[in-house]
Amino acid sequence: MKNNRFPSKEYLENEKVMSFYRNFEDLSIFEKPYCRECKDSCCKKCGCAYFIEDFEDLSFEGLKKELDKETISITSIFEKSYVKNRSIINPILFLRVRNRKRGIVDLFSEKTRCSLLTPDGCPYSFEERPLGAIMLLPKYKNGKRACESLELSNEIALKNWKKHQDALKKLVEYYTGKPMNERLKEEIRDAIGRLAMSIRNNTELQERQLQVLEPIHYMSLEFTEYANKNDLKLCKDFSLLLNLER
Ligand code: SF4
Ligand code: SF4
Repeated sequence: MKNNRFPSKEYLENEKVMSFYRNFEDLSIFEKPYCRECKDSCCKKCGCAYFIEDFEDLSFEGLKKELDKETISITSIFEKSYVKNRSIINPILFLRVRNRKRGIVDLFSEKTRCSLLTPDGCPYSFEERPLGAIMLLPKYKNGKRACESLELSNEIALKNWKKHQDALKKLVEYYTGKPMNERLKEEIRDAIGRLAMSIRNNTELQERQLQVLEPIHYMSLEFTEYANKNDLKLCKDFSLLLNLER
């Protein structure tokens, strides 16, 4: 893990990202009056994402050394694209700080609070914090929280992680004993099962459940083939209903 990271060339060449970075010259913005007031809401939602610049060695062995510290999870995000007017989604693997009650491989589950968050806030210094956390700028506007995440930096981060999918897939297989696709399908099956149970029980879905429901709506059989067919239909119908209501 690097301590004195500096944005890579792609960030440096991007004026929008760099103007955002210049805000960080005044580190007092991270010294928590805002975050204390809001009681670390973002960290209660989910652990923050690592960018490739957070790591010195992105090889299988280098990342394994970091993962063996038991504070990080391999996770995934589904990227949506359109081919011949059809939306297609593909998983992209990346690393994030581990969420509470989640394991070293956590490809598709409801988000939970960051496992490292303490009653006094983040245990990491600014220098130690993952870039995903640094790229979320604490802000208050007219007395209301208006923290700003630069979408563009997240896009560059994912583009960079795409170059390291092979190492991450091998790590999933190393830790679970299963090829990444198999493991992902099992996690999707389990998430669909949990969602279907909540829908049947008429429990109002929380934000973290809706975030899981959304990609399921677009998933092809390639990802959902292990799910119970009735559970899957219920989730897709419910998702459609929510979309229609919007
Ligand atoms: S960054 Fe924003 S949401 Fe996160 S703890 Fe600070 S003020 Fe709250
Ligand atoms: S590592 Fe720190 S900044 Fe990141 S989510 Fe956890 S508590 Fe928050």
